[in-house]
Amino acid sequence: MLDAWLDLVHGGGCVGCAAPGRSLCHDCAGRLPTSGHSVRPTPCPPGLAACFAAGEYADLLRAMVLAHKEHGVFALAGPLGRVLAAAAAAAVPTTPTLLVPVPSRAAVVRARGHDPMLRVTRAASHTLRSDGRPVRVARLLEVRGPVRDQAGLDARQRAANLSGSMAVRAGRRRSLARSRVAVSIVLCDDVLTTGATAREAQRALEDAGVRVRAIVTVAATRRRLPVGTAPPRPGLQLFGRGD
Ligand SMILES: [Zn+2]
Repeated sequence: MLDAWLDLVHGGGCVGCAAPGRSLCHDCAGRLPTSGHSVRPTPCPPGLAACFAAGEYADLLRAMVLAHKEHGVFALAGPLGRVLAAAAAAAVPTTPTLLVPVPSRAAVVRARGHDPMLRVTRAASHTLRSDGRPVRVARLLEVRGPVRDQAGLDARQRAANLSGSMAVRAGRRRSLARSRVAVSIVLCDDVLTTGATAREAQRALEDAGVRVRAIVTVAATRRRLPVGTAPPRPGLQLFGRGD
């Protein structure tokens, strides 16, 4: 009954296996990663904080990220939040922590009708708090100025395109300074590709005097290795490109 209703509402089935009904069926939900791994882009932007991801940006995770972000399948926010929480559990201390979503351009948020990363970060925060972790979400960052679409840009072009594009929201900065509570800052994003976006978000926070403890993402793109080279070790994702 519920599945039939859901099918009517969003007109699709499971994003993982196309089974009719829910946007994520029970079997596919059971295949989601439940722990985080340390990951690193190659090449890595200098000074990038420690990065953690729950899985590779492929197959089910990629389908979930895209369906939620581009097609507004909000029912996936909860499962994506749990995956992000799994990645964050490897990085978040047991002391008070702020989860800071990497911001999207205001025009992109308007066009999509929602802010996917904020939604997923809130879901992750809910999961972590249920596990007794003192975390909350803080929208410290905003995008300033025009930024070109990242598609088709290499790592260096992405870094140049993003440089100076993010800043700490002035009001949030003042309230953070006033709170006088020691908190750890963990940046949250959906996909780690070249690390350029995460590095720019980290730079914006550090320029405002805020140290970033870690960067956590739902997924990380696997590095595309030249033919004839050994694949990366299982459980360790490396990166080359993505979107
Ligand atoms: Zn499925």
